[in-house]
Amino acid sequence: FGVIGYPVAHSMSPPIHNAGFAATSQNAIYLPMPIPPEYEHFKATVGCWLDDKSLDFSGASVTIPHKQNLLRFVAESGGTVEPLAQTIGAANTLVRRANGELFACNTDYSAALDSVCDALNTTRPQLAGRRVAVIGAGGAARAIVAGFAHCGATVVVYNRTRTKADNLAHQFNVPPAKVIGAPLEKLCDSCCEVVINCTPIGMHPHVDQTPMPNQSPLRPDTIVFDTIYNPVQTRLLTAAQQAGCVTIPGTEMFVRQGAAQFQLWTGQPAPLDLFRRVLQQYLE
Ligand code: NAP
Repeated sequence: FGVIGYPVAHSMSPPIHNAGFAATSQNAIYLPMPIPPEYEHFKATVGCWLDDKSLDFSGASVTIPHKQNLLRFVAESGGTVEPLAQTIGAANTLVRRANGELFACNTDYSAALDSVCDALNTTRPQLAGRRVAVIGAGGAARAIVAGFAHCGATVVVYNRTRTKADNLAHQFNVPPAKVIGAPLEKLCDSCCEVVINCTPIGMHPHVDQTPMPNQSPLRPDTIVFDTIYNPVQTRLLTAAQQAGCVTIPGTEMFVRQGAAQFQLWTGQPAPLDLFRRVLQQYLE
């Protein structure tokens, strides 16, 4: 197993997965595998690993800049792509099944959905009609908007560049979901039950920044989820806790996207608490 792509952002993945393999007695190892950004490099390198029988290469986490390359590679190899990953236009997980067939999917959106469902003590189907504010319209926002729209939620995409919010909303505004775009300044008028920050506002070193300087939309029953994990406790989350909200840090999404991968690769549930502890130690 390995993380293919940008090793700095995902240097947290090897300790998590290797601890999981050890705890569940898997004869497996997960290694960082940097590949230059072009598709031809991706194809040649992953193709070699798959062809090398002695490696018993079973899958990988795939990150920037190869999330689109993975979709193309699996499709060209005759494998299967998760339909929602295809719609999002990005996959982060490669699985080689026991029969050799390849499968690509996206565990980012599923991790976000599971984190919010846990906080709301609800199930994915019960997200239908729930009001969700997504701040940002980049790659992370796209996966998260797709996931909530797929569940039939009502999503407002708030973004600095309004046209990007509108374009993203337009693509996923398919009934029963309702998805609309809005300017970032309108966030203070939001009446959403779940607020998700998908921008780097508040990320190290700009830890004194927040995407929500005016906290008026925050009521004690609001779920506030910051996808940033550096720092774990952002200014947005601190303000939300002061307002009595339930909060979700970006580490939870990170752990859960890895846990979903672990289950796909091994067929066993990931030791979630161990993953959380290893990540916390790593970040400390
Ligand atoms: P991206 O594709 O570059 O998108 C960034 C978004 O943030 C854009 O919508 C951009 O608005 C907005 N933005 C950036 N700087 C801003 C500012 N100063 N003021 C207002 N808006 C600003 O990035 P991404 O890949 O989606 O990542 C976004 C965040 O998600 C990062 O902080 C990353 O750490 C986090 N993330 C977390 C996980 C996890 O597992 N926890 C996974 C993936 C990403 P414009 O459209 O106007 O440029």
